[in-house]
Amino acid sequence: MSDPDCLFCKIVAGEIPAEVVLRGDRVVAFRDIDPKAPTHVLVIPVEHLPDAAAVAADDPALVGELIAAAAGIAAESGDAGGGYRMVFNTGADAGQSVHHAHLHVLAGRSMTWPPG
Ligand code: AMP
Repeated sequence: MSDPDCLFCKIVAGEIPAEVVLRGDRVVAFRDIDPKAPTHVLVIPVEHLPDAAAVAADDPALVGELIAAAAGIAAESGDAGGGYRMVFNTGADAGQSVHHAHLHVLAGRSMTWPPG
């Protein structure tokens, strides 16, 4: 299912431009428009699900597909050796601003925890 009002559904449909780095039947990945690291890619399910918890509840295998896609992107970009961060912001206090589940893949600089 897709949501006609959802920004990321529109990117999946090609209605809003994005720099797509992976397009599969169930998973799409594209570069974040406001990158927080030299590599900043968003990996999303094609299906409109509001957050990572909903993905896990609806289709647990799809969580694995998102993570595997993120690992593949890090490997292809040459970031796997130095390490990278995967983040699912979930809900308001985590700063989730787009309510279509997305896995941030951040790499290419040193990142400390917790973030500011
Ligand atoms: P979050 O705050 O976890 O919901 O992350 C949403 C992310 O979507 C932010 O890092 C935004 O920079 C990114 N974003 C918003 N609009 C676009 C867009 N049109 N194309 C690519 N990334 C976007």
